Amino acid sequence: MADITVIGSNMIDLMTYIDRMPEEGETISAPSFSMGFGGKGSNQAIAASRLGSDVAMITAVGADEFGQQQLDNYQENGIKTDMIIHGKANSGVAPIFVEPTSGNRIIIVKGANDELTPDALDQFKSQIQSSKLIVLQQEIPLETNYRAIEIARAANVPVLLNPAPAVEGINREFVNQVQFYAPNETELSTITGMPVESIDEIKAAAHKLIDEGVENLIVTIGSRGVLWVCKDDFKLIDAHKVDAVDTTGAGDSFIGAFAHYYVAGESVSEALQHANDYAAVTVTRKGTQKSYPTAAELKNL
Ligand code: ADP
Repeated sequence: MADITVIGSNMIDLMTYIDRMPEEGETISAPSFSMGFGGKGSNQAIAASRLGSDVAMITAVGADEFGQQQLDNYQENGIKTDMIIHGKANSGVAPIFVEPTSGNRIIIVKGANDELTPDALDQFKSQIQSSKLIVLQQEIPLETNYRAIEIARAANVPVLLNPAPAVEGINREFVNQVQFYAPNETELSTITGMPVESIDEIKAAAHKLIDEGVENLIVTIGSRGVLWVCKDDFKLIDAHKVDAVDTTGAGDSFIGAFAHYYVAGESVSEALQHANDYAAVTVTRKGTQKSYPTAAELKNL
């Protein structure tokens, strides 16, 4: 049985680098295209595994060649694949359009990820119950997350929920039971409806969720670092000053690294420091999973 169980999505990122978006009815050519492995769940699992954790991935891959590629990618990265569902639908994909001057435009087609239903999850109950940490995001059906939280809680297994992407209609009764709730500041604002410009505002928004029952709020704030808030304490860890070239997947690298260090026995504070170090390295490299170093690579930096 693996120590960390990630229950979440897998996607193939279809990155199209464009000069501009075409108008309706227009066809244009674009300078380049590349594909990469993505999906928040997969990214987080890969980061933890590359750092040396024993990771199981519970996800639903598609019935097409991308599905097989995902399986190969997990295996190459030492992730246990015996809990992967072979879905009937096509693979989850994320067409991403990158314009030189403006932000990315991302479309998510969940595909087979929707086949990871609560009933499908039940067959992996014993893996969840024997894990040291469950890691969840919000790219699979929300009911599946609720079921995972229910099973983990009954077995006293801690849960880390990364509420990304922010979605409507969350049942807070379930999510308030997690030990670690880890949004970025934009997601925190969406969830609480509160402003998050200053550190004090982020703290106030975090306390709203603490008052509702969440144990630890871990708010990633990009180049400002990370803020940890619990009932009677808080800690701001500044981000490293680095030349960031690509911050795609920085949050996922942070979550995966935190899971690794925490399960390895570090205190929350130490694990956050190390995750902050790890995420800083990933933003200096291009790509998503491609930018996540292994433990050996990290040592030689
Ligand atoms: P997300 O990808 O979810 O938006 P963030 O942008 O908050 O996540 O980044 C996650 C973590 O990555 C931050 O808490 C920080 O540790 C690190 N990070 C992100 N951007 C930078 C940066 N420009 N310089 C250094 N570290 C960064």
